Amino acid sequence: MSVPFLQISAVSKLYPGDVPSGLKPTTFNIEPGKVTAIIGSSGSGKSTLLHLIFGLLTPDAGAVYFKGDRVWGPEEKLIPGHDAMRMVTQETNDVNLFAKVHENISVLLPNTDVEVKKNRTDQLIDQLNMRRIANKRVADLSGGERQRVAIARALARQPEVLLLDEPFNQVDTSFRDGLQQDIRSIVKNTGLTVIMVSHDPAEVLSMADDLIVLKDGEILESGAPRQMYQHPQNLYTAKLLTNSNILTREQAAICGIQTDKEHVVIYPEWAHVTSSFTRKHFTIKHILFKGAYDELILENEGVELRATVTDSSKLKEGEHVHVKVDRFLAF
Ligand code: ADP
Ligand code: MG
Repeated sequence: MSVPFLQISAVSKLYPGDVPSGLKPTTFNIEPGKVTAIIGSSGSGKSTLLHLIFGLLTPDAGAVYFKGDRVWGPEEKLIPGHDAMRMVTQETNDVNLFAKVHENISVLLPNTDVEVKKNRTDQLIDQLNMRRIANKRVADLSGGERQRVAIARALARQPEVLLLDEPFNQVDTSFRDGLQQDIRSIVKNTGLTVIMVSHDPAEVLSMADDLIVLKDGEILESGAPRQMYQHPQNLYTAKLLTNSNILTREQAAICGIQTDKEHVVIYPEWAHVTSSFTRKHFTIKHILFKGAYDELILENEGVELRATVTDSSKLKEGEHVHVKVDRFLAF
């Protein structure tokens, strides 16, 4: 049997307190050349897990194995962090602000071959789309551009694993999309393995090949993003991955849904406004323009429902409409 690329084997790290926190014994493997995203609410143990994988924390029990060899913790290693891995966080701030972008990258490369050093620097500048800013001082860059530099620096010496701990939080959306695409291209073209941590559904759904959901220091479920979005096994996952309508059983009944489960989840794209002459139970409270679509805030007997429509030109706020729910999840 071949050795797993990265094996997390019954690893735990608990912090004492009224409610113990941290990471409970956790086991899973990470495949090479893919983006694995770990998603969970704040305090669910995402950063703790990432630090354990990298070797910045020593587990209470269990071990992490990289290609069959144990990843050592900070007590056992002079420079903490596995040599084949690099990590970028929001706080990654080891650049020289007054040096140019290309200097900040090339300084990390060995001087043994000047030609190789220049080529590798150029390659990273291209891979991260930084040609336009290559000769600028880092001090003059935007937050998003600085994150590109931080990622290029992390990749300079060709680590096998790039760990990202919510590095895009301060980066505005338009910039974030481009950076995410560039990272995906690098993964595809170079076989880099990325493990990212996030609480942002848009980010993990578009970036990840594999998704791991963490709740209170435990893996709740894992799988491919599309599958998990369409068929979450838990209310927590549905809440994390979507901006969905979450109704109690009683509220669901008002929307015509009968269930003996406690909660009903309706994704906005599963609720439709249809023309009906009779059963116009819902009132359009607001029509929110979202660009490619509109979001309707509908109301019936105190229950609010969000629905998306691509064409709202025939709808008016205050109008009474019939709502049809194609699909729902019950938990
Ligand atoms: P996340 O990254 O998902 O927000 P963390 O892994 O940072 O969560 O933290 C998980 C839990 O462990 C939190 O409740 C946090 O307060 C606790 N924790 C993390 N680091 C420490 C520490 N050094 N000492 C005590 N508690 C900690
Ligand atoms: Mg964190």
